[in-house]
Amino acid sequence: MARRVHNFFAGPAALPCEVVKKAAEMGVLEFDGQGMSVMEISHRSKPFDKMFKNTQNNMLKIMGLNPDEYAVLFVGGGASSQFFHIPFNFLKEGMTADYVNTGVWSKKAIKEAEYFGKVNVAASSEDKLFSYIPKEFNLTPGAAYVHTTSNNTIYGTEMWNFPETGDVPHICDMSSDFLSHPMDFSKFSMIYAGAQKNIGPAGAVAVVIKKSYADQAREDIPTMVNYRTHIAKDSLFNTPPSLPVFVIGLVMEWILENGGLEGIAAINRKKADLLYGTMDNSNGYYIPHVQDVASRSFMNVTFRLPSEELEKKFIAEGTEKDLLGLKGHRSVGGCRASTYNAVSYESVSALVDFMKDFKAKN
Ligand SMILES: *Cc1c(COP(=O)(O)O)cnc(C)c1O
Repeated sequence: MARRVHNFFAGPAALPCEVVKKAAEMGVLEFDGQGMSVMEISHRSKPFDKMFKNTQNNMLKIMGLNPDEYAVLFVGGGASSQFFHIPFNFLKEGMTADYVNTGVWSKKAIKEAEYFGKVNVAASSEDKLFSYIPKEFNLTPGAAYVHTTSNNTIYGTEMWNFPETGDVPHICDMSSDFLSHPMDFSKFSMIYAGAQKNIGPAGAVAVVIKKSYADQAREDIPTMVNYRTHIAKDSLFNTPPSLPVFVIGLVMEWILENGGLEGIAAINRKKADLLYGTMDNSNGYYIPHVQDVASRSFMNVTFRLPSEELEKKFIAEGTEKDLLGLKGHRSVGGCRASTYNAVSYESVSALVDFMKDFKAKN
C-alpha cells in the first residue's frame, strides 16, 4: 500500500484503507474477471448490473429498510442538486415546506426551495453561530414536507433527536453522517447524501426514497429531476456514476464486515469521546465551538485555540506530522477535525497526542 496520511479533511474525505486497495485491484485494474476496468464496462452488462444491485441491496440491509418500500438511487449533481430536485418534485402550488435551519447547507437548501414555493423556517440556530441543534420546532400542519440536515459539516453539530413530523413526510440531508450510527430510517420519506463525506468518492449522491412518497410527486416536471423516472429504472435510466458506485459498494461491504451500524457507531463514539474529552480537559486551551454537549457532532469536530496565530501554527505543525485537513471552514475559521467512519481510532489518537504535545510547548 502507498503512503497513507492521517486524513481529517471534511470532503472528499478518508476512505477505509482496505477499500482503496480493493478499488484499485478489483475496480480499476480488472473488474470481475472481465478483462477491463469498471470504468470501461457497459452499465447494461450483467457483471455491472450485479454489482450495482448488490450495492443498493446492501445499503438497504444496513439501514434495515425493505426493498419493496424504499428505492436506492445513485445520481449525479451532488447533494446540492437535491436542494432543488426536492421542492421541484414535492413543493406543490399553494403548499408550504418546513425547513430547519442549522447551518450553511440548510440555508442553501432553503434558498433553492424558495424558487418553487413557500418556505417556513421551523427552527434556526443562527442566533448562536449554529453552535446547537434547536429543540423546539414550529411545524406547519399539512406541510409538503419537513427538511432537516442531520449533521452540520461546517459548524460541527449533529441532530441526535429529530422533530416528530407526524403525517408530514420527513426529508433529511444526511450527507455528512450517513451510515455513521444506527437509527430508525423508516421515519424518513427521503434521505440523501453526497457520497464524498462518509460513504465513497465524489460524483454520486445516494438517494433513499420511499416509493409511495415518490408517487405523490408532481408529474409535470422534466424527466431527469422526476424521482419516478429513476425509481422505474432501478436507478439505471441513464449512465450512473459507475466508478463511485463501485467504491460505495465496497464501503457497504466494509460496514457489514465491521458489525454494521452498531459496530461502526461504537468506534465513532470512542473517537469522539477521546477528542472531545481531550478538549474539555485542556483547561480552555482547546475550545470546542459546540459547547452544548448534546448537539456535538461525532463526524466534524470544530474547535478554537487561544489565538489565530496559534491556530495557524497548530495547522502547519500538524501538516508536518501527516495530520492533514485540520483547517476550519473559511466561514467559521479555527480548526476542524473530520472523523468520518473511515478515520481510524489510531488517527484520532495520533491527533490527540499531537494536541497534548502542542499545548505543552505553546
Ligand atoms: C457537503 C455537503 C453538501 C453538498 O454536497 P455536494 O455533493 O458538494 O453538492 C450538502 N449537505 C451537506 C450536509 C454537506 O456536508
